[in-house]
Amino acid sequence: MLEIVRGDITRFPAEAIVNAANRYLEHGGGVAYAIAKAAAGNVREYIRISKEAMKEQLGKDSIEHGEVVVTPALRLERFGIKYVIHTVGPYCGGVWDEDKKEKLKKAILGALRKAEELGVKSIAFPAVSAGIYGCPLEEVVKTFKETVEEFEREAKSVERVYLVLYSEGDYEGALRYLEENL
Ligand code: ADP
Repeated sequence: MLEIVRGDITRFPAEAIVNAANRYLEHGGGVAYAIAKAAAGNVREYIRISKEAMKEQLGKDSIEHGEVVVTPALRLERFGIKYVIHTVGPYCGGVWDEDKKEKLKKAILGALRKAEELGVKSIAFPAVSAGIYGCPLEEVVKTFKETVEEFEREAKSVERVYLVLYSEGDYEGALRYLEENL
């Protein structure tokens, strides 16, 4: 069910794309900034939309690992994207342990379950936590693989999960890692 691809998630043709957000949905940098800019044309506007959606959907101003918020894809609809699902991965700063892994699993599973609820067939993730949050890419890829394998048993609507890697180096590193650990 999981496919690793190289690309730009802001134009990846999956029905839902996931944002590696921070808990306040501020979209200040990295993939969050790129998605906000591409979706609304204006990052501030997408932050406003996201915060309003968070209030409506969760009744609060910040989200925990495993909680997600959905916003419309707006301009990204031209690529077939219907929803943006915001999830929050752990901050690692280079340190990886069981606690980070659990938090990342929750973040991935929360988005997958929301995709089921929305009834979409395809969902694309960026490498959540492997950028500014500093978690080792190999561990992130491994956690994605394990979590999607677990989720497969409960999936009804979702048929395809993509992990979209932005840089050639990350993409090659991820493929190499998976080949070595089949
Ligand atoms: P985090 O704070 O969760 O680490 P980042 O946005 O810093 O989130 O990075 C997450 C991953 O998203 C990184 O591997 C980064 O290279 C990647 N990324 C950045 N821009 C894009 C994009 N347009 N499409 C897909 N992945 C992207």
